This record gives sequence, C-alpha cells and structure tokens, in this order.
Amino acid sequence: MRNQIVAGNWKMNNTTAETELLLNNLLEHQIREDVKVYVTPAFTQLSQSVAKLEGSPIQVAAQNMNAASSGAHTGEISSSMLKGVEVNTVILGHSERRSLYGETNESLKEKVDSALKAGMEIIFCFGEELNERKENKHFDLVKEQLSSALFHLPNEAWSQIILAYEPVWAIGTGETASPEQAQEMHAFIREQIQAHYTAALAEKVVILYGGSVKPNNAQEIFSGEDVDGGLIGGASLNADDFMAIVNAF
Ligand code: PEP
Repeated sequence: MRNQIVAGNWKMNNTTAETELLLNNLLEHQIREDVKVYVTPAFTQLSQSVAKLEGSPIQVAAQNMNAASSGAHTGEISSSMLKGVEVNTVILGHSERRSLYGETNESLKEKVDSALKAGMEIIFCFGEELNERKENKHFDLVKEQLSSALFHLPNEAWSQIILAYEPVWAIGTGETASPEQAQEMHAFIREQIQAHYTAALAEKVVILYGGSVKPNNAQEIFSGEDVDGGLIGGASLNADDFMAIVNAF
C-alpha cells in the first residue's frame, strides 16, 4: 500500500500574521493518521511553521532550493539552510519555476542530485502545457521530463522521491484534468518507471495530481488507482478547504 499524501503549495502567499492564522486554523482539525500532510510556506515562514507544527503530524516542506551548497548565489537558498531549519522536503520543478524563472530539465536534474545528496525528500513536479495536450504530445513530454531529470537515479534514490503530475493548463485555472485523464497519465508514469527500473519499485512510487483540486472534486480525482493524493495550490490557503481535501480519500 502506497502512502497517501496531500501537500499544500502556499506559493508567495501568507505574511507572518497570516501564517499564524492559517496554521492555527489547520491545527484545529483532527489530522488523519493514514494521510501524510505537508504545507510549503515561503522561505521566510519556514522556521515559524516548523515551530508551530512541532508535535503535529503536518510536515513542512520548502518550495524550491538551489543546487549549489553555498556561495555567490544572491537571493538563493541551499539544502543545508533548509535542513538547518528542520525542513527536509523540497518541491522541485514546479511549473511556475519552469515558466517564470527559467528552470529546465537539465537544471532540475542538478537540483535533484543536490537535494538527494543532502538527504532531502523531493516532491518533483512536471506536466504538459495546454498546446502539448492539444497536439497529443503530453505523454512524450512527460516521459522526457521524467527521464531527463530522474531516470539516471539509482533504485534506492526513489525512496526519497514523490512525483507530482501537474498539467500546466489546470494550475490555478479552475480547470481540472478529468479523473480519467489524471488516472491515464498516472498509469503511464508508473509504466515508465517500471520500464526503467522494476515493477516493484514502480508500485511503490507515490504520484500526486495537482491542478485546481478543490473539496468538491478531490474525491473523484483521488479515486484513480494510480492517484495517490494531491499537490494543492489555491485551496491550501484555506484550512477548511485543505482539510476537506485531506479527508477526501
Ligand atoms: C499548484 O500550484 O501546484 C497547484 C496545483 O495550484 P492550484 O491547486 O491552485 O491549481
């Protein structure tokens, strides 16, 4: 049985006061033991969130990191800095990082290697743009994103990897992939892992879906056999909505 995971990507939202309020609201909810829950505040709210969530099952992850361990990278954050504030999980490859900040499959490969070397867990995001789906290139594109950034890894590294399939056309748009489209792609992703590694390894990898998951559609999306949970943007900014999604399994 694979882990079921729901992770909230807060993006560039929540000041210190807003973080305090959201975390208080989250902590009022009973957290299920059979679902792993993460929140990913901005860098400036990581320490605050770690301290506040101490003793709670909710884990704190970061939204990004630099591949370098230190040095002349103004404005960047390293894995050791994250680990120094007790953050051991990082999102890499989010479509906004790819489209707005020039991250490529090659630069993500470096980040993946660096995060793994530091012993971090990775939530690795990928997914096609609308035109790629319309042109029926989405499977090839996803295959390329996975193989260029991840398929050089040894088997054992996969225990530190969570995948998040996020079709770009569904992120923040209110448009979701249908449960069938999500399941179809997740099954394809598992097949690719099996082809490069083993069936046993493919069976263990957690694959999240992300893209306008809301309380009213989460249950249907999560019902797919290969859909192990969600990476949630907008709806993770409201504790009731986020917890309704966590409880949608
Ligand atoms: C995301 O940013 O990863 C995301 C899935 O956003 P939303 O849920 O708002 O579409």
